[in-house]
Amino acid sequence: MGRRFNRVLARLRRDFQLSIITLMGFFGVLGITPYAVYRFSQGNYPVAIADTVIVLSTIFAVAYAWRTGDTRKPGLCLVVIESLCATLIAIKLGINGLFWIYPLILLNFFMVTPLIALLATVAVLVMLVAYASVMPGTVFESHYQMLSFIVTVMMASILSFIFAQRAHYQRKQLQSWATRDPLTGARNRRVMDQELKIAVANQRRHNISSAVLVIDMDHFKQVNDRFGHQVGDQVLVSFVQLTNRCIRHEDRLFRFGGEEFLLLLCNTNEKGLRAAAQQLQAQISAHLKSPGGPVTVSMGGAVLYANERWQDWLERADQQLYEAKRAGRNRIHIDTYQVAETAKTA
Ligand code: GH3
Ligand code: MG
Ligand code: MG
Repeated sequence: MGRRFNRVLARLRRDFQLSIITLMGFFGVLGITPYAVYRFSQGNYPVAIADTVIVLSTIFAVAYAWRTGDTRKPGLCLVVIESLCATLIAIKLGINGLFWIYPLILLNFFMVTPLIALLATVAVLVMLVAYASVMPGTVFESHYQMLSFIVTVMMASILSFIFAQRAHYQRKQLQSWATRDPLTGARNRRVMDQELKIAVANQRRHNISSAVLVIDMDHFKQVNDRFGHQVGDQVLVSFVQLTNRCIRHEDRLFRFGGEEFLLLLCNTNEKGLRAAAQQLQAQISAHLKSPGGPVTVSMGGAVLYANERWQDWLERADQQLYEAKRAGRNRIHIDTYQVAETAKTA
């Protein structure tokens, strides 16, 4: 029980969006359920039903987010449903319903991207003003009240938009700093470990095979020694740009060490791994250069076995890289153990 609670807490700490949707769900259910009961007891059924829809959809969205880990879809659904219900409530209750538009604005900005939140809020405002224009005296008691409402809602929305946009940008930047290598923009070692673990889990659960290619620059020290560290840096950047252009969208390139990289290829068997490695090598031969001429790389590859630990998988690829270096560099060695156990040749 205590362990489970700790796991829940850890997940909330790790996943900001999940914690927000849960918090909003908690407040939504706690704050609106008494109103739903009250409206039913008063016989105000349209508002009572709108309140109930908000409560139920909130519970459903939170449950969905916890079960699937996807917070985007339930967040968007909640914004649409709650904006429509809040509009209906404001139309039915007039000024007493209009108060609810302000927490709705906050909810929107917490749940979805700033632009969608702003659009949803403006849509609510337009619906209310349009209805009030067709049926004067229903939503607002006077033109002055309507104008004040428009001004205050727009002020709250624009300030929330600026704040949310800033937070969104800063979060993205933090995420990039935490996961990317600053020089080349390739993913860093921290994410690499996580992605390798995910690949192992996918192999176990769904039998999806993945492959890795460890890539190391040949005689890179000489590039630095002859032309300086900055030129060496530029070669590393060019290598990453070149590789990113060559690989599929779902493949991942990590900077593993100084001039050593790891390419993770999802849904790839040995044949696919070999083809990808050859294609990459052809591109590098054609385009990767230092002032002293072409820069070559050596590659070691391995396909993940069933029930293999990620450390062992990596170790096999590394061993192949070592063999490629020993055999003279500028070559690809792939572990072929799975295909022919007795003829372990590269
Ligand atoms: P080998 O073919 O055996 O791999 O030879 P090598 O010279 O590439 O290997 P070694 O491990 O001896 O040297 C790696 C060099 O990579 C040494 C280091 O200065 C350079 N290096 C590592 N990180 C960076 C970096 O961020 N920028 C630059 N410019 N050089 C780097
Ligand atoms: Mg090297
Ligand atoms: Mg090296």
